[in-house]
Amino acid sequence: MTAGQQLKAEIRGCRICADRFAATATAHEPRPVVWFRPSARILIAGQAPGARVHESGRPFTDPSGDRLRAWLGLSEAEFYDKDRVAVVPMAFCFPGYNGKKADLPPPAVCGRTWHTEVMAQLPQVRLRVLVGAHAQRYHLGVKGPVTALVQGWREHAPQVFPLPHPSWRNTGWLKKNPWFETELLPVLQAGVKELMQ
Ligand code: SF4
Repeated sequence: MTAGQQLKAEIRGCRICADRFAATATAHEPRPVVWFRPSARILIAGQAPGARVHESGRPFTDPSGDRLRAWLGLSEAEFYDKDRVAVVPMAFCFPGYNGKKADLPPPAVCGRTWHTEVMAQLPQVRLRVLVGAHAQRYHLGVKGPVTALVQGWREHAPQVFPLPHPSWRNTGWLKKNPWFETELLPVLQAGVKELMQ
């Protein structure tokens, strides 16, 4: 077994958050969704799986995923090609819901426990797509409003693109910030296309 395979097996067996998840309204068990191979050139750094992904065991099998694939200009087959695209959220398990039925934040212990080792297994990554504030904080080392970070995308492109979360909750944000679709997305899609060839 390679070091990468060993690491993936350890993450899949991780139960660090079992008590935390058992105390949520869904009282679910940890189900780490692990999706990366060392050849990947594109990294999708997200937040944490949602309830649907917890059921499917595949990342972004939900309307957010459909929107994210459209932003990237990728078909489902391309997006799920682990040899080219890695999906590494800040927590590998669904964290549960808060009182408003919104997803809880990713448990910080997950990033602390696994992220350094996982990133060391991805030496070919040339483009990082940072979805939401938690991934942006980790990968850019900055804590700021997502809008300001995304507006400053040219400071990081073409290696890194901070994006808002593709959730339906951000449909209003997209309407208020049309430059995101007209200016940022074409550059992101060109970078993705080049690396997928
Ligand atoms: S979220 Fe991360 S640390 Fe918590 S149980 Fe899942 S894999 Fe382990």
